[in-house]
This record gives sequence, C-alpha cells and structure tokens, in this order.
Amino acid sequence: MNDDQLLRYSRHILLPEIDVPGQQAIVDSTVLVIGAGGLGSPAAMYLASAGVGTLLLADGDTVDLTNLQRQILHTTEGVGRLKVESGRDTLARMNPETRVEVLAERLEDAALDAAVARATVVLDCCDNFATRHAVNRACVKHRKPLVSGAAVRFDGQVSVFDLREATNPCYHCLFPEGEDVEETRCAVMGIFAPLTGIVGSLQAAEALKLIAGCGEPLVGRLLIIDGLSMNLRTVRYGRDPACAVCAA
Ligand SMILES: [Zn+2]
Repeated sequence: MNDDQLLRYSRHILLPEIDVPGQQAIVDSTVLVIGAGGLGSPAAMYLASAGVGTLLLADGDTVDLTNLQRQILHTTEGVGRLKVESGRDTLARMNPETRVEVLAERLEDAALDAAVARATVVLDCCDNFATRHAVNRACVKHRKPLVSGAAVRFDGQVSVFDLREATNPCYHCLFPEGEDVEETRCAVMGIFAPLTGIVGSLQAAEALKLIAGCGEPLVGRLLIIDGLSMNLRTVRYGRDPACAVCAA
C-alpha cells in the first residue's frame, strides 16, 4: 500500500484484528457481487469504500424508478441505465482505488463459472432461487466462500457458506432445491428500504472478515432479522451428508 492508501484505510489498520496484513489482503482481493439491487448496493459500497481491489459487479437489469427507494447505488438520473454502469459510476466516486468490472448479464453457466473462479469471496445479492442455487454450485465446485443474503417485506436472512472447507455446509444443505418455498418477490410483496441496507451491510461485513481472516463468520449459522420487532436470532444448521451438491 502507498501512503495515500495507508491514510485512507487507517481506521481499519488501527483495528488489531485487521491491521496492515488484513487491509493488504482486502486491497489484494477480488469480490464478486451478484446483483446490483437492494442488497448489492450497500454491499458493494462498503466493499469499495473499505478498499477491495477488484469488484466484479454482475446484473443484467436497468434502473427503474421503483428501485430508488432502496437501491442506493443508483440515483434519479440513472433511471433507464444499466444497473452495473450506474453502480460503477457511484463506486468510482466513492473510491477510485477500487477497480470495478461490470458484467451486464444474469450470470449463468460459463460466465458464472469464470467469475466465481476469479473471486476471493462471492456475495449472493440476487432475488431468485435459480440463481442462488447456480451460484452455490459454482462456489462448491471452486471451493469459494459464499456470503448469502435475502430480504423481503420486513424479514431478512444472512449466512456464510465457507466452502474452502469440505466439511462446511453449502446453501443446498440448508435450502434444498425443489423444496423452495414460493418465491416472494419485492415487486409483489414490498420491502422495507433500510432492511436491504442492514442485510447488504452484514454481507459486506462477513466478506471483509473472511478476506482479512478475523472474527467468526456466520458459518453453520443462519442470522434471521425481524425488522418489525428488530429481534435478531441465529439458528444453527449442519452439513447434509446426502446433499446433492456438496456430498462427495
Ligand atoms: Zn450441501
């Protein structure tokens, strides 16, 4: 890191759990953020402000007026633009040190595989089960840590699947494919704006902890947030030895 970087990230470096080696790991990292919407917005903003070296931002959608209530990467002027391009401009203003690569598509197959292979950590900030399961399969294949978040109405969830260790559970162990409850989309159900900020910020926190190697990530624990009562609880879960995705 140069002098400007040491100054910019000094409040991280002051933390003994992060210090120079942890911040250097953050600066050297590549983080894949899938979805530049409600969760991806705050997640990408904290990852960029904290100094992640390369952010791969993936989303095929354009900014819609109904997004602006919570998707804080985007502004009124951005309506109609690709979310990844609007997001890249916002992130560049926050921290020009972070290189943002845009993937203007709903990541699937080879493109998903290639992006996951490059990532130090993957953040699932998408809004549908098909993508969640595809991302999980790619993370299991490449043994990449996956930070998953979800939010709808006043309810949020966060968990970490640290697939660098084969003994840790994957997303499919917790939410087997086919048993997915009916998809509850923000477009239909509504979503409390700051809840996406809470969940996306928690995802950024878990990702930075994984990269810096500090603290105890939410591995084998599902954090459940009730935004109405503001009760937070964690539920433990284990690996499914018969999991169709991660069992050998
Ligand atoms: Zn599994």
